[in-house]
Amino acid sequence: MQIHTKAVHSGDRKRNGAHVPVTTPIYTATSYFYDSMEQLDRVFGQEEKGYCYTRYDNPNAAALEELICALEGGAGAQSCASGMAALQLAITSALADRRKSIVAANALYGSTIGLLMNVFEPMGVSVRFADVCDLDALRTLVAEAKPGCIVIETISNPLLRVGQIDRIAEIAREGGAALVVDNTFATPLLVRPLELGAHFSVQSVTKYLAGHGDVMGGAVITNQEHLEGLRSLARTLGPVLGPFESYLTMRGIKTFPLRMERQCANACRVASWLSTHPGVARVYFTGDPAHPDAAAIRRLFPANLYGAMVSFEIKGEGREEVFGFMDRLQMIVRATSLGDVHTMMLYPAMSSHRELSPKHRQRLGIGDTLVRLSVGIEAPEDIIADLEQALAINPSA
Ligand SMILES: *Cc1c(COP(=O)(O)O)cnc(C)c1O
Repeated sequence: MQIHTKAVHSGDRKRNGAHVPVTTPIYTATSYFYDSMEQLDRVFGQEEKGYCYTRYDNPNAAALEELICALEGGAGAQSCASGMAALQLAITSALADRRKSIVAANALYGSTIGLLMNVFEPMGVSVRFADVCDLDALRTLVAEAKPGCIVIETISNPLLRVGQIDRIAEIAREGGAALVVDNTFATPLLVRPLELGAHFSVQSVTKYLAGHGDVMGGAVITNQEHLEGLRSLARTLGPVLGPFESYLTMRGIKTFPLRMERQCANACRVASWLSTHPGVARVYFTGDPAHPDAAAIRRLFPANLYGAMVSFEIKGEGREEVFGFMDRLQMIVRATSLGDVHTMMLYPAMSSHRELSPKHRQRLGIGDTLVRLSVGIEAPEDIIADLEQALAINPSA
C-alpha cells in the first residue's frame, strides 16, 4: 500500500465484540481487567496481548503506534508526550548497552542541543559535535570518539542541510554505534530513515504529522533489535502519550500526505519568488539546484518533494529590520513551531537558537537577519502577497 492509503487506514478498525468501529474510540480507562486472574496474569506477563494499565499500553496509543510504524517502516513504535520526550527515550535506549558517548550533528534543533549538553553530559555521557555532511570528517571523529550513538536530523534546523543517512548509518555500524535520526522536518513522506539503515527514527508529531497546531506529541520508531528495550524503557520512565492526544494525532495524520504535498509545492513557489526579491539577501531551500547537498537530496528524496521549510536572510543590519518586517506580516503567523496548516515565521536568533552566544550562532551560520518560514497549505498567492507587502515597506524611505 502507498503511504496515502496507509495514512487513512492503518491502526483503525479493530473489532470490539460484534462490531468494528470505523475510527478508534477514545479509551480513557487507566486500567483493564479480565474474566479471570489467570488471564490478567498472562497480560501482565506479556504472554498474551492485551491492556492492563495505560502507562504500559492503551488502545489509542497502540492504534497511533501501528499507524506511525506503517508510515515510517520498522518493527514498531512508541508514542510519547512530546518530540523531546521521544528524543530522550530514543537516545537512552540507544545507549542502554553501548558506550556512554554521543556524536551529534553540529546543526540541531535548539532543545536537542540542550538535551545533550544539559541532561546527557552532566550524567557522564560525553558529547562531541560534527559536520555530518562531511563524511570523511565524521568517520575520523567516530573512530576517535567511539560513540555509542550518533544523533542527526534529516533536514537540519534552520539552515536546511541534508546528510546522507545511508552512508552515516554505515559509519555508525562500522563503529558499533546506533544511529538516531530526527525525521521531523522531512516526515515519512520524504524519507524513512529505518529503510536507510538508521536504528531509530524520531518524530515530533506536534509538527507535520498532527499538523493543526492543537496537539503535542512525539514518536520513536525502531527496528526489531531495539523494540523490546525501547518499549520496556517507556513503561518504566512513563513519557507516554495520553488517549486524547493519540486520538487527535491519528485524526490529523489521515490528511498528512495531502497536506505535506501541498506544503512542499507551496514552498517551491515561495522560495523561487523570494530568490528574485531585491529585499532578500539569501534563500536557503532544499529544492534549490545550487543547494550544497543537492546530490544527496536528489538521491534520497522523492522527485519534487523537498520539504516545506524555507529560511532566508533579509537585507539590513539585523534585529531591528527583522522585527519591522515580521511585525508587518498580516496573515503569516509570527510564532514558534512549524508544520501546521497555517504559514508561520520564526526568528531563530530570538527563539530556537536564543541560548547560544552571538559568536556561536555566527559560527553555525545563523545570522541576525535570518528568518525561518514554515509554509502552510494556504493559496500560494496569498502567502507571497503577505511577504511582498511586509518586505516592500522601507521605513526610512
Ligand atoms: C519541535 C521539534 C522537536 C521537539 O518536539 P516537541 O514536540 O516540541 O517536544 C524536536 N526536533 C525538531 C526537529 C523539532 O522541530
